[in-house]
Amino acid sequence: MPEETKTVRASAEVLRERKRRFRRTRARELMMITKALASTKHPILVHIIPMRRCNLDCGYCNEYDSVSKPVPLAEMKKRLDILADMGTSIITISGGEPLMHSELEEIIRHIRKRGMIAGMITNGFLLSKERIGTLNEAGLEHLQISIDNLVPDEVSKKSLKTLDTRLEWLSEFAVFQVNINSVLGSGVKDPEDALKIAHRAVELGFTSTVGIIHDNNGQLKPLGPREQEIFEEIMTLGKRSYSRFNDFQHSVARGKEHNWRCRSGSRYLYICEDGLVHWCSQQRGYPGIPLTQYTDEMRHREYLTAKHCAPMCTVSCVQQVGMLDNWRGPQTLKPKPMAPPAGARPELVQIGGTRSDS
Ligand code: SF4
Ligand code: SF4
Repeated sequence: MPEETKTVRASAEVLRERKRRFRRTRARELMMITKALASTKHPILVHIIPMRRCNLDCGYCNEYDSVSKPVPLAEMKKRLDILADMGTSIITISGGEPLMHSELEEIIRHIRKRGMIAGMITNGFLLSKERIGTLNEAGLEHLQISIDNLVPDEVSKKSLKTLDTRLEWLSEFAVFQVNINSVLGSGVKDPEDALKIAHRAVELGFTSTVGIIHDNNGQLKPLGPREQEIFEEIMTLGKRSYSRFNDFQHSVARGKEHNWRCRSGSRYLYICEDGLVHWCSQQRGYPGIPLTQYTDEMRHREYLTAKHCAPMCTVSCVQQVGMLDNWRGPQTLKPKPMAPPAGARPELVQIGGTRSDS
């Protein structure tokens, strides 16, 4: 924990607006669940990348570069319109680092204008009081920051020490919901860090979750006894969040394979900066079809396609989406090439150890 931490208080006006936005978002989330249970024909959650570039270079990450340009706003709006027309419920903006996109707030406004729930995953380094204000005004509903350690090291600078002041600003000024994700697993030096990060998150009025990272061969490794204790403690800490209903996470912590139906490519979509649809951040390259050419039939096929990586998967957000359909739609199909346009199909990228915040 940083030496001098303080608890901050939001003004009465911020608290009022925070409550109002929370109630509205919760009502829309309940509608989202009802709609998802009533029909399997639309995506529930989409991760979209407006910016592959990142201002950090975490040692375990291969979801960023240091040179690429932001996706133009007009192109982002076009993609969001297609997703809205498909009936998508939630859009989470990810990266790279989305706060590097100079028109991020316009992207968020467009998500809200099209009736979808707007969330974002960020490393938080570019947050300022002013930026929190513009994110409030744009209508952001969820923000997640993943914090890897208490003090920065050679692998990750996403530490509580570097981010604590920004967390205090969020606690004071943000009217959107904030979740702090801490990490456990191979490569994490001190598992006690995760517990301290989670306690600080709750102290500041945020929800907290814990992600599990595995090493680069992608094998499912159980957490050690103390790590498992910490994992369980964080899962029961403070405020509730949907991820706590995720039985899968407990299996991952114990190194057990999990029996579930991954609906990526259908109920969950990952749209990269080039506008291609992928299963998820860890299985990029398939289907590899431009969003503009991704038909209802393709989505339906992917709904029924078994994913070879499902038993060892650590992508918790796709797991949560899967819970809404695990009881129906047995997956009997195998992945098959979907005739993308020439030159638009990158190689399948299977990523073992990577960010654990999605
Ligand atoms: S984990 Fe996040 S902050 Fe770190 S390099 Fe990757 S995209 Fe950037
Ligand atoms: S890694 Fe997980 S989320 Fe991604 S396609 Fe495989 S099972 Fe689905």
